[in-house]
Amino acid sequence: MIELSNIEKRFGTTTVLSSVDLVMAEGSVTALIGPSGAGKSTLLRCINLLEQPTSGTVRLGEASVTFEPGKRVPAAEILALRRQTGMVFQNFQLFPHRNAVDNVMEGLVTVLGWPRERAKARAMELLEKVGMAEKAEAWPSTLSGGQQQRVAIARALAPSPRILLCDEPTSALDPELSDEVVEVLGQLAREGTTMVMATHDLRLALRTAGEVVVVDGGHVIEKGPSRQIFTDPQRERTKRFVTTLT
Ligand code: ATP
Ligand code: MG
Repeated sequence: MIELSNIEKRFGTTTVLSSVDLVMAEGSVTALIGPSGAGKSTLLRCINLLEQPTSGTVRLGEASVTFEPGKRVPAAEILALRRQTGMVFQNFQLFPHRNAVDNVMEGLVTVLGWPRERAKARAMELLEKVGMAEKAEAWPSTLSGGQQQRVAIARALAPSPRILLCDEPTSALDPELSDEVVEVLGQLAREGTTMVMATHDLRLALRTAGEVVVVDGGHVIEKGPSRQIFTDPQRERTKRFVTTLT
């Protein structure tokens, strides 16, 4: 279970998230939607602790970290939690000087200390899963955006994270290329991968997410099963926002 309790995030005097309480079950897929600047990326970054919440508790399975203003959290606790997450970014962020398979195995070797053979076998398994095994030796610059994103998904999954976080995984892609990424994420969702994704892509949300969380002005203004949020939202603000999605 992934649980966020009373998360607040301030940058200086600006409050970007406040009173965020969310529970996500293992195997669930949650889409974070909401206008630009709402706080979706910040919320994702507070789950993997790339940003430390100003206050509140983040729990991933057995690991839990509580933040309070003025209290320093030991780096080991942050790391223990972060290691349970994998992240996929809008602009892929592959290592440009490594080929596809090296991108996927890099963290296994350098961070987790796996022998190269074992890491390579795992990487190939994942490239197979995202339909990129034939491009294992290809350099990122020679791959399409959709292909790069599929390699990035394989890389994020390599250490078997408890949760996969995706920040606008299709928004840098043309529609045809985003299809192949939606396909891969849809497959992962069906296999029970726990995911939280910020997205403006209605098709991606409909194909993957069971739950939708609507963020606006740093608050969760509505949440519920995706079918309900997209067809019968309760809040006027959600109604207006949902009609802007394509
Ligand atoms: P988008 O849909 O455009 O990606 P978002 O919902 O992901 O938007 P965030 O990137 O989380 O929004 O930003 C939320 C707010 O926090 C914005 O007002 C942004 O300017 C502010 N913000 C984010 N990161 C920082 C930072 N490091 N320092 C100061 N303000 C920040
Ligand atoms: Mg964002």
